[in-house]
Amino acid sequence: MGKTIIISNRLPVQLQISNGSINAIPSVGGLATGMKSVHSGGESLWIGWSGLTDEETPPELEGKIDQALKENGCAKVKLNANDIDGFYYGFSNRTVWPLFHYFLEYSEFELDFWETYRSVNQKFADAIIEKSEEGDTIWVHDYQLMLVPQMVREKRPDTSIGFFLHIPFPSYEIFRTLPWREEILEGLLGSDLIGFHTYDYERHFLSSVRRLLGLEVSFNEIYMDNRAIKVDSFPMGIDYKKFHDAALAHEQNYNEERSDFQLRLDHHKASAPDTKLILSIDRLDYSKGIAKRLNAFEYFLKKYPQYQEKVRLIILAVPSRSNVPQYQLLKKEIDELVGRINGELSTVNWTPIWYFYRSLPFENLIDLYTSSDIAWLTPLRDGMNLVAKEYIATRTDKTGVLILSEMAGSAYEMNEALLINPNNFEEQANTLQQAINMPKEEQINRNTFLQNRLERYNVEVWANEFMNALNEKRDLGRAFV
Ligand code: UDP
Repeated sequence: MGKTIIISNRLPVQLQISNGSINAIPSVGGLATGMKSVHSGGESLWIGWSGLTDEETPPELEGKIDQALKENGCAKVKLNANDIDGFYYGFSNRTVWPLFHYFLEYSEFELDFWETYRSVNQKFADAIIEKSEEGDTIWVHDYQLMLVPQMVREKRPDTSIGFFLHIPFPSYEIFRTLPWREEILEGLLGSDLIGFHTYDYERHFLSSVRRLLGLEVSFNEIYMDNRAIKVDSFPMGIDYKKFHDAALAHEQNYNEERSDFQLRLDHHKASAPDTKLILSIDRLDYSKGIAKRLNAFEYFLKKYPQYQEKVRLIILAVPSRSNVPQYQLLKKEIDELVGRINGELSTVNWTPIWYFYRSLPFENLIDLYTSSDIAWLTPLRDGMNLVAKEYIATRTDKTGVLILSEMAGSAYEMNEALLINPNNFEEQANTLQQAINMPKEEQINRNTFLQNRLERYNVEVWANEFMNALNEKRDLGRAFV
């Protein structure tokens, strides 16, 4: 059996250059954790961009960088500043991201972006072609690399190729507006297996393939050039144990090692013991519905004034893609909204919204998750939403209420949460009231189901199920030869 090659826009390591030496620090994100069992030992290789453009890479350090990456089972694709502009900030995040999240009016159809996207996808494909051999298994990740499967298949039809999309696949009516829709579908169809988070995304994809390419689709298989391409849903999980154990440790060390952040939360709790903390954590992205949530919170406080001074909303907005204009505008809108609502409703003893615009270290995320009575997540569209899963995983005594948008992929697996339509303020105000007053036994009952499911379908199981399906597909293909 051949080796496994994983390919994603960014490598799972961060490079640090200091005084002419290179440090490669493994990242701790969900994908990197999930892939641990797939990307281990000498039998696998992870190919991606290192995070340093050619312009930022001192030529004399190239060798050292390659060596440091190799030690972590990685190899880099070289990209220049122009590539990153057109491919990453351009086509990926100004065309595909908004379109696939149903923000049609934000999607820019620029020929330059498209051409750079295609040429950068070719660079990734060339790196795979160079490093792969007959019998290898190749797993391509996400919307930045949708043309790679076909580009690789052209030169290496003797490998097994899987693709997983981490964002939604939109309905045909949205997807059809993309000028390069056929090319994107054909790119993806270079795969043997294509995975999505939910059955709905899978269904949308199959319908686009049928209607735009006129291909034969039977159940979840597509027939093209004497090949059968399998399409399936694999909802991504989290590293449940990591979050649950961190919350347990947090509880046990409670009196010894409280962070400054936790001390501030404690102080708040002590000074207002009957005030409920409502938490939301998102990247600052228009798909997350942060501005709408703020408006809905104001609506709630006005509809149910008895909860003024009795609830506090903590918004953690993590900076993201801040050189894309839409994100700058959104930041301004949220800053102003928080200022206006706090200005209007604050009292001497109470500020309704605590707003943090930064990313927090893992320990402080645990502080927030474990201290909050309610998590309120209202994306307008979200491929999955892992924050919802992480909140539940940290509730060691099984209390806590999750209010989750039905537009998030995770809502499909989290039926015991309070599911809401983020555009319906009336429903959200009533749901907040229901969450604030939910009896403990009901909270425990709901979260027991949720925790059991999250523990079972953790991120490692997700990665293994995808790989098993890909291997099965290959073995089946061989049996027919
Ligand atoms: N997160 C983080 N630092 C922070 C806040 C959040 O690393 O300061 C993590 C969080 O734990 C979660 C991820 O960011 O794993 C967000 O994933 P999600 O699927 O919710 O949204 P995405 O950002 O991928 O759209």
